[in-house]
Amino acid sequence: MDAPQPAPLAHLLNQAGELLRGLLENELIGVYVIQNGRFRYVNGRLAEIFGYAPGEVAGHLGPLDLTAAGHRDLARREIDRRVDGGTVSAHYAFDGLRKDGGLVHVEVFGVRTTFDGHPAIIGMLMDISDRRAAERAAEEQLRFIGRLVETIPNPVFYKDAEGRYLGCNQAFEQYIGIARDELVGRSVFDISPPDLAARYHAADQALFDKPGTQTYEASVAWPDGSRRDVVFYKATFDKADGSLGGLVGVILDITERKRTEELVWRQANHDLLTGLPNRRLFRDRLEHELRTAHRHGDTLALLFIDLDRFKEVNDAHGHDAGDQLLVEAGRRIRSCVRESDTVGRLGGDEFTVLLPGLDDPIHVERIAEEIIQALSGPIVLPNEPAYVSASIGIASYPQDAERAEDLMKCADQAMYAAKANGRNRFSYFTPALQQKALEQLHLGNDLRAALAAGQIGVHYQPIVELATGRVVKAEALARWHHPLRGAVSPAQFIPVAEEIGLIHALGDQVFRQAAAAALRWYRDAAASGRGPVKVSVNKSPRQFVTGSCHEDWLDHLTAIGLPAEAIVLEITESLLLDERPEIREKLMQMKERGIEVSLDDFGTGYSAMAYLKRFDIDTLKIDQSFVRDLETDESDRAIAEAIIAMAHKLGMRVVAEGIETRGQLDVLTRSGCDMGQGYLFARPMAEAAFDDFLTRDGSPGGRPA
Ligand code: C2E
Ligand code: MG
Ligand code: MG
Repeated sequence: MDAPQPAPLAHLLNQAGELLRGLLENELIGVYVIQNGRFRYVNGRLAEIFGYAPGEVAGHLGPLDLTAAGHRDLARREIDRRVDGGTVSAHYAFDGLRKDGGLVHVEVFGVRTTFDGHPAIIGMLMDISDRRAAERAAEEQLRFIGRLVETIPNPVFYKDAEGRYLGCNQAFEQYIGIARDELVGRSVFDISPPDLAARYHAADQALFDKPGTQTYEASVAWPDGSRRDVVFYKATFDKADGSLGGLVGVILDITERKRTEELVWRQANHDLLTGLPNRRLFRDRLEHELRTAHRHGDTLALLFIDLDRFKEVNDAHGHDAGDQLLVEAGRRIRSCVRESDTVGRLGGDEFTVLLPGLDDPIHVERIAEEIIQALSGPIVLPNEPAYVSASIGIASYPQDAERAEDLMKCADQAMYAAKANGRNRFSYFTPALQQKALEQLHLGNDLRAALAAGQIGVHYQPIVELATGRVVKAEALARWHHPLRGAVSPAQFIPVAEEIGLIHALGDQVFRQAAAAALRWYRDAAASGRGPVKVSVNKSPRQFVTGSCHEDWLDHLTAIGLPAEAIVLEITESLLLDERPEIREKLMQMKERGIEVSLDDFGTGYSAMAYLKRFDIDTLKIDQSFVRDLETDESDRAIAEAIIAMAHKLGMRVVAEGIETRGQLDVLTRSGCDMGQGYLFARPMAEAAFDDFLTRDGSPGGRPA
């Protein structure tokens, strides 16, 4: 202290005693003096930090006594360096050892000095356990987050506010195929294909412009060039000073999910057999195209295609072959239209075609013709080629209808018209068709009500044995007297009943009435000595296909006590063409019980001899169309004669239908026809009238002589 000191310091030194006391008595910083490896002095705070009473440290303990075992070397080195004169001051932290054995983390600042003329160290010491703990907690948290990010199976990445990668997890390295070292510092443009990079960059910018979170679907390129569908979840993070630090992102791969969704959608919207859009998707497309056409003032054509006689092919060749045929038919229809047109399969053998924007009907017609042409060629099936044809209905927007449903109906009606006109052709929708369809609908509703009210009656028409003139059978014919329409012909309401599924109910009502009448005539015949009169009931093919009506009918006969021999079933040729084994079984079951089977309208259908044998038919009914011109038409006469001769050879009996004249009767009698039915004998009549007719018809050869 020889150099003159500025006044403040001199003053300070003057006050040194006071100042030092203040320092030593502070409650925060421990103060110590070490000499010869021992504490010469410690203040109260220092003793307190280590858990001692003030008097227990100075003169008793050395610095190493207050140092945790692991840090003693460090402490010794630091003390020696100063004591030996190497360094003047030292500043370090270490774990202190408390009197109770606990540890306390402390930081010391010590300087070399002299005390009582000998080297010493004076220093200050602070308890920094709290600060250390906070630091540790932060470190642990970082380690935890690091582990967490690595553990996440999804790719995770972080970028700075300039969009440069800061890092990523292992999943990201594997997913993108880039090592972390190569990634850090790069941008999306360095590691992704240009189109994707541009997309990511734009998204990043949008997020940085409006910090927060962001989710979007995009794709990611794999190292092999393939692309994956992903969802990006991103969020910005801030720096300590509150400025934008960058973003962190997670990638969720949704490729499989999308594939499954697509598959489910395909299956829900396509016909599994042909792969064509199904009814639902076709409807969607139709509605979509209708809206477009409406906006642009365009036209649109809808084609309904039904394969003619598909059922027969299906039955004859088996269902697998039928499936193949449908696939091929779908392919051929597709080949006739443009890529942008929609071909759908509504089910069964019904296909639809949507032709938007064909202004000229000629074009639509040409396509319909092409389809008919394409379908008419043989279709190769495993066993033998099959031949089908197509009936097509055409409806147009806006001419015929404006709504999808209505347009479908129009095309459907037009298709039925094409079928009715002889099949293998197309028909346009016309308002007359609509009218007819509407009438059918009303007729159907009325018929439903009539059946529910039991208003369907039965008339009986005699079938006469030609040799004797005796009435041997009565054909039961359904009769419906409508309060407003008057008498509705079965030729009109039977097809409607078949179409809307009422034929079972109708057939049952007729059968029960007929069976009741048959039972009466059966008993009367026995009582009066008149020969038996069988009742002949018509049964349409549909009645054989579903349900167990054959059993119900047989049960009913048993229940009322009528022998099955008193009943004749009139079936049509189309039933015999049905190859389903259960059809034949049902028929045979009825025959075995004694019911006679009669083939109605013979000559109008396929008339294949093989079927007659296979089904063991008892009686043939020659159709009225051959009887009508018997007297004048040589070929009709030849046909009738041939049928009679053939039937007799096969052991069958023959009924001629629709005999109206004496001349017809003579020809038939000469040809050996067994029985006749027609207006010449009697018109169909109510049951009571038939009773009278029978009574009057007692004598052999009595009528219509
Ligand atoms: P179908 O079985 O061939 O019946 C004979 C039809 O010819 C009857 O017509 C009958 O009235 C008519 N007919 C009889 N004799 C003559 C004649 O000399 N000249 C002319 N021009 N016609 C004659 P209907 O009663 O109008 O029945 C029409 C068709 O409706 C029947 O033809 C039959 O296929 C069907 N049908 C009638 N009732 C039933 C029924 O209960 N169930 C089923 N599934 N079909 C029935
Ligand atoms: Mg009949
Ligand atoms: Mg007939």
